[in-house]
Amino acid sequence: MLAAVFRGPNRMELEEVAVPQIGKEDLIIRVKACAICGTDLRIYTGQKTKGVRTPSVLGHEIAGQVEDIGENVQGFKKGDRVAIAPVLPCGNCRYCKNNQENACLNRKGLGYQYNGGFAEYLKLPGEYLSKGNLFIIPEGISYQEACLAEPLGCVYNGNERSRITINDTVVIIGAGPIGLMHLLLSKAKGSTAIIVSETLPARRQMAKKLRANLVVNPAEEDLVKTVLEYTDGKRADVVILSIGITSLIDPALRLLKKGGILNLFAGFPKESEAVISPNIIHYDEVWVTGATACTRSQYEKSLDLISRRKIDLKPLISHTYPLAKIEEAFATVANGAGIKVIIKP
Ligand SMILES: [Zn+2]
Ligand SMILES: [Zn+2]
Repeated sequence: MLAAVFRGPNRMELEEVAVPQIGKEDLIIRVKACAICGTDLRIYTGQKTKGVRTPSVLGHEIAGQVEDIGENVQGFKKGDRVAIAPVLPCGNCRYCKNNQENACLNRKGLGYQYNGGFAEYLKLPGEYLSKGNLFIIPEGISYQEACLAEPLGCVYNGNERSRITINDTVVIIGAGPIGLMHLLLSKAKGSTAIIVSETLPARRQMAKKLRANLVVNPAEEDLVKTVLEYTDGKRADVVILSIGITSLIDPALRLLKKGGILNLFAGFPKESEAVISPNIIHYDEVWVTGATACTRSQYEKSLDLISRRKIDLKPLISHTYPLAKIEEAFATVANGAGIKVIIKP
């Protein structure tokens, strides 16, 4: 089978490798769609190394078809269309026991400890079935849409951690796929004013199409001033930083009302440091949080939102590529020309 093998920063090689051997408890999945995540790009360019093996197959936003089942497997059959929650929590650490399985101390994942979806087939270890990480894709939902349950699940986690609720004013900085999913989910939660800040014209256009209330080009307008004016000086309940640039943290704090919440949703380059005005946190009693991955439950709810057409992610799918063109696909993500870029092995 064909696989894109990650051999180190900026080295992804298309190789002919053996189809993985199935164990009694395992499944072999024929990958039908695997989307490129911002994290994959950070791994590819060497900005993220934690938990990454070489050589390995990246890709954790996966939907596919069951190709083969181990003799002890129950509940799934050959030909089933499935979506996979890629993070396996241990279930026993103090975080798992405290409803934070997404931050499990011993978590394992596809595209990290196990080979991921940038290949024609992948082996799904039996643990994925026993832990309930595998979901049937409802009829009428494409593989491309279903594979986006993973990033939407992460956004769902970020949305919950930001305590976004009805009538909130939300500022989203960065309208890449994650920022746009935050926009859709905030809308669904009943936020009344969603302000999106983005320098790329095509992404601003998309934010408008997805019904952001105000779209700002921070290269031309002062975002803090614009938000103050738009909200009559009240500022935002929640600010989501969905772009990993540390110099944006301080301006983001200035957008918050007293008691507001800043979510540093995007990852930053390792060893990053930021200069912030700590008195904003002190005197304005603002909360600063982040978000990592998602729980199985948040993944399941996200797949459900897609399946019930409560969240339509189709407009976000800008490009699909065959596996043979994976380098071109990564370039499309890197240069910002794509929104959500999907590999169809
Ligand atoms: Zn992802
Ligand atoms: Zn754990």
